[in-house]
Amino acid sequence: MKTLKGIGVSPGVVIGKVKLLHADEIDVPRTEIEESYIPNEIARFEDALTKTRAELLGIRKKISSEMGREHSDIFNAHLLILEDRTLIEDVIAQIKAEKVATDYAFSVVLQRYLHAFQQIDDEYLRERVSDIHDIGRRVLHHLTSRQRETLSNLSEQVVVVSHDLSPSDTATMDRKNVIGFATDIGGPTSHTAIMARSMEIPAVVGLQNISKEVKSGDKLIIDGTHGLLIINPDQTTIEKYLSEGKKFVAYILELEKLRHLKAETKDGHRVELAANIEFPDEIASVISHGAEAIGLYRTEYFYMNRVDLPEEEEQFQAYKMVVDQMSPRSVIVRTLDLGGDKFLSSLDLSNEMNPFLGWRAIRFCLTRVDIFKKQLRAILRASHFGDLKVMYPMISNLEELRRANELLQECKEELLKEGIEFDEDIKVGAMIEIPSAALISDSLAKEVDFFSIGTNDLIQYALAVDRVNEKIAYLYQPTHPAILKLIQQTIESAHKNNIWVGACGEMGGDPISSLLLLGMKVDELSMSPFLLPKVKKAIRSVNMSDVERIAEKALLNYHTAEDINQFSKAEFKKIIPGFEEEYLS
Ligand code: PEP
Ligand code: MG
Repeated sequence: MKTLKGIGVSPGVVIGKVKLLHADEIDVPRTEIEESYIPNEIARFEDALTKTRAELLGIRKKISSEMGREHSDIFNAHLLILEDRTLIEDVIAQIKAEKVATDYAFSVVLQRYLHAFQQIDDEYLRERVSDIHDIGRRVLHHLTSRQRETLSNLSEQVVVVSHDLSPSDTATMDRKNVIGFATDIGGPTSHTAIMARSMEIPAVVGLQNISKEVKSGDKLIIDGTHGLLIINPDQTTIEKYLSEGKKFVAYILELEKLRHLKAETKDGHRVELAANIEFPDEIASVISHGAEAIGLYRTEYFYMNRVDLPEEEEQFQAYKMVVDQMSPRSVIVRTLDLGGDKFLSSLDLSNEMNPFLGWRAIRFCLTRVDIFKKQLRAILRASHFGDLKVMYPMISNLEELRRANELLQECKEELLKEGIEFDEDIKVGAMIEIPSAALISDSLAKEVDFFSIGTNDLIQYALAVDRVNEKIAYLYQPTHPAILKLIQQTIESAHKNNIWVGACGEMGGDPISSLLLLGMKVDELSMSPFLLPKVKKAIRSVNMSDVERIAEKALLNYHTAEDINQFSKAEFKKIIPGFEEEYLS
């Protein structure tokens, strides 16, 4: 028995038999060849590339018709790698120089590429590692007679263990029989994590070496709630986890009962609970978790992993589909929040010294008016079909907000002239995620219909702590008094100017922070759908008067993040029976 700790990205407990996927598929033994065989080997390589390309185009088409373009576009990056001249030339040079078989030459070059990409200090580029892996396996499959493993036809229930799971693995997976995931790499926002959450199966990622530690058939416990993995557990551990698993299922069923109940405190204070989405196909999960609205639709994913930019019509169709499915609930579409750790393959942007502080989000859109207006027109057109709101990211001053609104107005006038229908009274919001915006929120509030506090970035910018740098993660403090003061000021400005204010960063889904936000009188909380029932339960178990008092005292009497956290925890424990066991374990 062995226990490993990784990152729990989808909660729950499962015990199952390992299905090890893609183990050492790219390790190929060295085979030397006669000089005269070289042209033959090169031809074999070219043939394998052509076959892989045809295979990928086929998958892209299938996924596009079954799951929509956002998913199928992921394969554009694969196709680009496959056509990479340097990679192709490196393999041919290796065959010629070493007089080795193509499969071996290809596997050597591939491993060199993988190694180089793994070293890159850039999350987006590091994510390409799994695309390269996937391509490598496919090409090798065509070069050798090895059978490519898939998850499409499983004869029994399994927990899948792999170095990583590629979008093509998950997209063609037999969903009935896959009951858990564990992978070496990945983080909370990796494709595997998003997929596990939407399938609602336990998953642990970032385990580093799990694909080398287990073999198919091993028994494995995955505890996605605590990010734990137990290999070949003994009987006592199995029994303990069987009972944990049952408790979790019972708990989820209990939370399910809250689905149709309001998010309301015991003394009748209402908050709107909304969901954050990245892809339109998450709506089923949004609705099943009882979200009252979509508080943040991160549209940049729509622009990612593709070689071209989405046209107005394509965007309109996607936004309309979201509105139609959510109707009569409302949907907030956030305009393109490119930059920081989110880059687009279709735009050749120069490298910047400080990408989080650079030419990004609304700054980019206000320069590339062509791209921005296409999106605004698509949003406006979709607004005719339901309650759609638009929101700008990264507003740092009043001029940006005014310019964005001017462009929105221009789009409205164009559509009017063209006789195209839209909601003339579409509600417009600003994200408050830069400290300057929080500090001038009183002025901003006069020119929008709502605010949404982006706590992820507000913390990053206010505390000068890169949100994706694990070395300084200890400084990323949601309950830092400076953060709470910026939030408080934003909420007060909004209410003074009679507009509503929500919070759509991760703080909204955290038990302590969400109650503090409630106590500061935020009107809406938007989070990953699966967090909603728990937050609703917490809200329904308190009195507004108590949480208001706790938030007020926390801000007044405590001066460090840790003290505020400790004080709030102790107070919530007093008013919510079982708070620690239920919400913090
Ligand atoms: C935020 O910054 O808090 C936010 C919700 O947006 P994102 O995480 O997409 O930057
Ligand atoms: Mg943000």
